[in-house]
Amino acid sequence: MTIPTQLFVDGAWHESRSGRKTTLINPATEEASAEVSAAQIEDIDSAVQSAHRAWEGGWRSLAPGKRTEVLFNVARLLREELEQIAQLETLHIGKPITDARDEAALGARVFEFYAGAVTAFHGQTIPIARGGFDFTLRQPMGVVACIVPWNFPFPIACWKAAPALAAGNCVVLKPASLSPLTALALGEIAHRAGLPPGVLQVLPGSGAAIGETLVTHPLIRKVSFTGSTDVGRRIMELAARDIKRVSLELGGKSPNIIFADGDWKRAAATSPMSVFANTGQDCCARSRVFVERGIFEPFVEAFVASTKTLVVGDPARPETQLGPLVSSGQRTTVEEFLTDARRHGSQIVCGGGRPQSRGYYLEPTVLLGVKNEERCWREEIFGPVVCIRPFEDEAQMLREVNASSYGLSGSLWTNDLRRALRVVRAVESGVLSINSHSSVHVEAPFGGFKQSGVGRDLGMAAMEGYTELKNVYVAET
Ligand code: NAP
Ligand code: MG
Repeated sequence: MTIPTQLFVDGAWHESRSGRKTTLINPATEEASAEVSAAQIEDIDSAVQSAHRAWEGGWRSLAPGKRTEVLFNVARLLREELEQIAQLETLHIGKPITDARDEAALGARVFEFYAGAVTAFHGQTIPIARGGFDFTLRQPMGVVACIVPWNFPFPIACWKAAPALAAGNCVVLKPASLSPLTALALGEIAHRAGLPPGVLQVLPGSGAAIGETLVTHPLIRKVSFTGSTDVGRRIMELAARDIKRVSLELGGKSPNIIFADGDWKRAAATSPMSVFANTGQDCCARSRVFVERGIFEPFVEAFVASTKTLVVGDPARPETQLGPLVSSGQRTTVEEFLTDARRHGSQIVCGGGRPQSRGYYLEPTVLLGVKNEERCWREEIFGPVVCIRPFEDEAQMLREVNASSYGLSGSLWTNDLRRALRVVRAVESGVLSINSHSSVHVEAPFGGFKQSGVGRDLGMAAMEGYTELKNVYVAET
């Protein structure tokens, strides 16, 4: 597979009309790694128009079994290219290669799931009180814009594009400026697998430069976005003008709740990677840990000991668990949080520094004594920083958990079934795990409450989100 660096439109490579390019920097070495065409406003209209032609020209009405066939073929070709996809991610965003391989495989699995979902997703027949025959249809929307971030570039591109395509839509995919290459690879591979030209267009380019033009294009029927709350809010405002459909996944400040009755030793050993994986650049990061008072000190000791064993370094090495942050700017943002924590007198019990001079590395950092009003407690840090605090009273702890404007994910550790169910019902978040830190399952809905977003990725819920629901009544007399 050649490394793609242009726009992928109508099944072929194109330079952006302006000839503009973005330089990618390898965050582990701080050296330039590739130059990629950057779409400008003048590239948007033709890409959306031709996606619309592809939709009207046949993708929307293709027999479901044919769509299944093409999407399975995409998955099959993706599986042949997993190593190449993983290597691209490691080189350009510093993702540890072992994680990059898992995520490449996840992307292929997503295509397999939605290939099968095409004929498993259906409407209903409804017994209308007055009699007659009533049924619902799930119909595709048209052209969908999928705007994706740099933290899990390949799997998120797949988990937006695959259900949208499976439901019969065409897609304009805009990857993040820092991570365009695996999205471009997806476009090319999908085309080779038999996806007709225009059905999946991939437009790398700056969100600030082209995002609003894409979102407000009259032929875009839905915007599916993952990224920051600020950009998500702006997209929702823009979408409101034409009542466009949106789904937004906007990150979190997720709790990790440890009760003394549970297997807190296992929780302490596994919790560091529930926040530090992907160097903390994870919307599901369990960045606020609540520990029952009686086990607080031994828990913190075990958590810190486990943190100190984490392998930070060259993302190309299979044993590496934490690579660099994605960019110099992202590291600066995280370090500003730590400056704020120091100013407030919070205690840094481990980490806080740069482990080496080259690459955008930052040590995994554990904070104690962080107060409710501090930035580190309230805001998504998106770096390797965790706050741990004790609790005595369950109800008070739940108030603190829910005081966040976010509500994406979280874990709780207990062996008391009644307590587990009580807490699960009380926590305001879209995704929770009990005695586990696992949040993302291809088959299950993923998304947030409150300012963590609206709508759901993954599972059959994502198929619903890429369709309009039509009700049809038939008189029988
Ligand atoms: P971001 O600006 O929200 O970027 C996400 C995506 O939106 C990228 O493709 C970006 O393109 C695009 N975008 C930017 N401005 C846009 C606009 N006006 N209209 C339409 N699309 C636009 O996120 P970021 O600046 O990379 O990261 C900032 C913070 O956001 C992070 O520190 C983290 O807290 C949060 N974040 C959350 C997630 C998540 O998984 N929920 C993912 C990433 C970031 P460009 O790359 O070209 O700007
Ligand atoms: Mg941004």
